[in-house]
Amino acid sequence: MLTDSFGRTIRYLRVSVTDRCNLFCRYCRLSTEEILPNNKEILDFDELVRLLRIFLELGIERIRLTGGEPLLRRNLVGLVRTVSRLPGLQELTLTTNALLLERYAAALQAAGLRRVNISLDSLDPDIFDTITRREGAAPTPGTGLPAVLAGIAAAIRVGLHPVKVNMVVMRGINDHEIPAMVLFAQQQGVLLRFIETMPIGEAGVGMTDHFMPAEEILARIHHHFGSQLLPATADKDAGPARYFSRAGTEAAIGVISARSQHFCSSCNRMRLTAKGNLVYCLGRQDRMDLKSLLRTGASDAELKTAIRAAVDLKPERHAFAMQEGATPHSAIHAAMSALGG
Ligand code: SAM
Repeated sequence: MLTDSFGRTIRYLRVSVTDRCNLFCRYCRLSTEEILPNNKEILDFDELVRLLRIFLELGIERIRLTGGEPLLRRNLVGLVRTVSRLPGLQELTLTTNALLLERYAAALQAAGLRRVNISLDSLDPDIFDTITRREGAAPTPGTGLPAVLAGIAAAIRVGLHPVKVNMVVMRGINDHEIPAMVLFAQQQGVLLRFIETMPIGEAGVGMTDHFMPAEEILARIHHHFGSQLLPATADKDAGPARYFSRAGTEAAIGVISARSQHFCSSCNRMRLTAKGNLVYCLGRQDRMDLKSLLRTGASDAELKTAIRAAVDLKPERHAFAMQEGATPHSAIHAAMSALGG
């Protein structure tokens, strides 16, 4: 079992399988950020599987594959097939922008994937393109918002249940779409979660002026629909989300308020970047370079010692408030695209 120095048991690992992404969301990446091809810096298939086996032996129970955009990783279906069969794994899930999900959903499900979280910040094609910096892109079939909607439909069809849709709410950009998103989720039968912008990386810090707290998001829903929001237990793996349902409806609505109401005391997760760094906390710089250990011939026992040492270093809480005080230039924290969200 992996227990940190504050008594929290770490059971959940988020694994970024690539730094590359096919979108350039404004709160996540800078427009100047280069998209590098997968190269030797990224853990290869065997290194990744070995590390995940070791994490599971140490007590990790749930693994979420993320990115960059995980569906861009070559042979992701093969990785899912191998990882889903590792002893000790209780659940394998994926976070994706769903642009390529229509193509892969059935194969991923057959390979052992259980659930997907899909990021969708707007139902308006123009706003979608603005947020993801696709403005000016030709409305080619199979790209942009239509591709994401087709990906969501495919996930529902193949039973990657419950499909969760995550919307990052930005004041003045997409906050007017909150009610439309509630209705969309209700019609589709997906679990909707509203996420506060987090000041992570220069792009995230740059969103500070558009921050909208979860309580205001909930108040908007209450005001728009005129119905009370009652606490709900919609999700056995709620993690950091708090759920509510509108009186008279079944559909649950989640909010993830990393900034306005941090949930660090119940944090049960760590993150492995595509380059093999183990990150203890989303809101901190510290990390353990597991790739160097792997590539200099460390034994399983040595890797386990390093992972335990990393767990010991997990801080009590994130330092988002500190980063907001920083100017964008001094916000040296790695971008969310590298951390995997
Ligand atoms: N490409 C995949 C996707 O779009 O879901 C996986 C990676 S993405 C970095 C994971 C999640 O992080 C997405 O839901 C995204 O909206 C969220 N995210 C990225 N930067 C963020 C920020 N500054 N604040 C809040 N959420 C952020």
